[in-house]
Amino acid sequence: MSQAAVVPPDPAALIALDEYRKNVLSRIRPLEPIELGLLDALGCVLTHDAVAVSDIPNFPNSAMDGFAVLAQDSGVGAELRVVGEVAAGAASRIPLQPGEAVRIMTGAPLPPGADAVVPVEDTTELGDVVRLHAAVEPGRHVRLPGEDVRVGDVVLRSGRVLEPADIGMLAALGYPRVTVRPHPRVVVISTGDELVDPEQPTGLGQIRDSNSYVLTALCRDTGASAFRHEIVRDDERALTEAFEGAMAHADLLVTSGGVSAGRYDLVKVVLSRLGDVRFSRVGMRPGMPQAFGLLDRGNGDRPVPVFGLPGNPVSAAVSFEVFVRPAIRRLQGRTDVNRPRVQAVLAESLRSPAGKVEFVRVTLRRDGSVWAATPTGGQGSGILSSMVEADGLAEIPADRSTVAAGERVVVHLLVRP
Ligand code: AMP
Ligand code: MG
Repeated sequence: MSQAAVVPPDPAALIALDEYRKNVLSRIRPLEPIELGLLDALGCVLTHDAVAVSDIPNFPNSAMDGFAVLAQDSGVGAELRVVGEVAAGAASRIPLQPGEAVRIMTGAPLPPGADAVVPVEDTTELGDVVRLHAAVEPGRHVRLPGEDVRVGDVVLRSGRVLEPADIGMLAALGYPRVTVRPHPRVVVISTGDELVDPEQPTGLGQIRDSNSYVLTALCRDTGASAFRHEIVRDDERALTEAFEGAMAHADLLVTSGGVSAGRYDLVKVVLSRLGDVRFSRVGMRPGMPQAFGLLDRGNGDRPVPVFGLPGNPVSAAVSFEVFVRPAIRRLQGRTDVNRPRVQAVLAESLRSPAGKVEFVRVTLRRDGSVWAATPTGGQGSGILSSMVEADGLAEIPADRSTVAAGERVVVHLLVRP
């Protein structure tokens, strides 16, 4: 009986994008909640309900500058005796009798006995008498307790991503601090012997490092607190020191370059020594070579996820969109990890590599009731200007090798619609 041959997995084989992405994201856990001051919590996920412990407002007050009156005393030509004044913040409570008025400012507590406010524009003051030019019904220009928020209301639910209006509401409710998942700390490192900083001239063979800038900016745009590390050379020791240093202070590490098949692609070598990091050929274009893994901090702390992105600028930026943005969202505890997407009609036909999901940089324009997507010219993975022009990335499925003009495609929006 012949034994079935054991076929080792082919390291050159492509992994389907969906499978790879699912796998990677499943290994990233939300950060532990911490307590933050209100303004620092902007954009964070709240991890408790915010409940009102009192009504807002919690006392009846005036919505206008004018005169507090009894509605039944009001009318065109009615004259009332002015018996006092209450400003916003005044704790005084001047009781009001029939036939009387109290001068009142917006936000000041309504005098007991009053049930309406006549705006100052509808009055004339004559000594200690005020003449009204309008009748008001009970409750007019009065803000009632609880008309905004009632005691016991759950105003913001756990899981909410805090927007500016929420920060204001929390202040109004009396929460100086909230418990949220923190802004992930990301360190971005460009690697490569050919790289120089933006302020430096470029000699033969040198290029300016754009990836660390675009990636750090993308991280910040996603709500991370991102730090751009200085350029690291293609040198094992330099890479090891940089990665070890970054691991100590980061919730996520993003590197660019050094993960393909070149002789000096040492990021591969160094990362695989620092943790469980895999190098894969993912069925996508651009961005086929990818590294992902968890780096061991060695002190029992949670491991640090690392993305080793390819160095070509468009590959790096597209890889960020496909993997890193959703990973940051997961660290933030968000469930909406993806960019918004729209259906669009392709304005030109295009060819696409079989077996790979292709992300085509497109501009979008409204064409009647549909979006029309036009590729932004050169789609080479080094063409940075096409990224600047793009409104979105059209996703061409792996099983398509041609797409005709007029066909529908999904476009991931890079700009706000
Ligand atoms: P690598 O992934 O290191 O093989 O780099 C692939 C290509 O991307 C090469 O042409 C590099 O010069 C270029 N590249 C690598 N890193 C950067 C960077 N930080 N900024 C701009 N281009 C880069
Ligand atoms: Mg390189």
